[in-house]
Amino acid sequence: MAVDALKCKECGTKYPLEALFVCDQCFGPLEVEYDFSNIDVEEAKRTIQTGPQSIWRYSEFLPFTERPKSRLATGLSPLIHAPRLGEYLGGLKNVYVKNEASNPTHSFKDRVVSVAMAKAQELGYEVIACASTGNLANAVAAHAAAAGLDSYVFIPTDLEEQKILATGVYGTELVGVKGNYDDVNRLCTELSAEYDWAFVNINMRPYYSEGSKTLAYEAIEQLGWKVPDRIVSPIASGSLFTKLYKGFNEWIDLGLAEGTTPTFHGAQATGCNPVADAFEDGRDFCKPVKPDTIAKSLAIGNPADGPYALDVARSTGGSIEQVTDDEIRYGIKLLAHTTGVFTETAGGVTVASLKKIAERGEIDPDETVVVYVTGEGLKTLDAARGTFEKYEIEPTVDAFNEFVPTPVTA
Ligand SMILES: *Cc1c(COP(=O)(O)O)cnc(C)c1O
Ligand SMILES: [Zn+2]
Repeated sequence: MAVDALKCKECGTKYPLEALFVCDQCFGPLEVEYDFSNIDVEEAKRTIQTGPQSIWRYSEFLPFTERPKSRLATGLSPLIHAPRLGEYLGGLKNVYVKNEASNPTHSFKDRVVSVAMAKAQELGYEVIACASTGNLANAVAAHAAAAGLDSYVFIPTDLEEQKILATGVYGTELVGVKGNYDDVNRLCTELSAEYDWAFVNINMRPYYSEGSKTLAYEAIEQLGWKVPDRIVSPIASGSLFTKLYKGFNEWIDLGLAEGTTPTFHGAQATGCNPVADAFEDGRDFCKPVKPDTIAKSLAIGNPADGPYALDVARSTGGSIEQVTDDEIRYGIKLLAHTTGVFTETAGGVTVASLKKIAERGEIDPDETVVVYVTGEGLKTLDAARGTFEKYEIEPTVDAFNEFVPTPVTA
């Protein structure tokens, strides 16, 4: 297996593959480093194609020396061709929606948690914890329950009720913190120094974030080992966005995928736009903001990977978009009307951002565009409220005939 060490993203200092996340020398973030020089491309393809129906088919490219097992199979979410959405956006023929709602807890967070938990178990941890904007809470609680591990889940108290209920049900220790996500995250960073727990997105963050690469690998495999021309992905901490870049480039460099690095577009809500704002201002750092948006799963005001996300967008000729809450609601509706996929607010951010990019005329009709729809609409039902009409009639044919509503399309 190719996993080699942890390595500081800033100064390059290497560390052993333990529960470490910051560099002692320069306080830079640590990242998993691989040595893929011994990989045989054809054999790697075969291993993947004959592997399990989950992210573990890619375990050679993840931080393990042996293929992990987990009881909840994560990954292999559908990549849906969306010609009606493409048509609406001005005749784009090859728009694909990667629908992460099919994961065990209905968001892409199952991927990062599966990887972080497998590593935590390998390192001997017995308690799993996280600081969550919602979906991570669901995933940690469920995967810990499946593995029989204790878990502590820290969330901002103002989270969507659906997400709280869909977490508590798994029997986790659910801790509401009176503050926003950035307060929760700071608290958990302090707690991680005090408790010998695996905080999936704090002391296990280098492993956690590797799980996002599988969203690049899967898109490539599902497109017939081809790289898309363009991708649109939501940004909260920037981890998913930057690891998609890592994943695509690993396979391009190895010759496992045909094509060149896609153009990367990030998507944020105007009510929590630190990366989009820095992009617009031409800054290479983010100014922290106080989130105020319906896209709570993306509500990180001080994004750890913000500067790296800016680099990715700029170096690939892409952008970081921002959309208002009304545009988010419209994005949810547009996706539902044209593809039959009901996404949570984060997917509304992504689709509304795609619409902006398309309206600027930046997308060639023949390009392959992958849009990452990272979570399930049933978890943020409030966003759909008031976006359509519902008629109430007496149970008679006359009453119905009085108005025959015209079918609504996008
Ligand atoms: C967590 C999350 C993201 C992205 O988070 P990053 O911190 O940027 O990796 C995107 N969509 C949904 C639905 C999420 O829950
Ligand atoms: Zn360093």
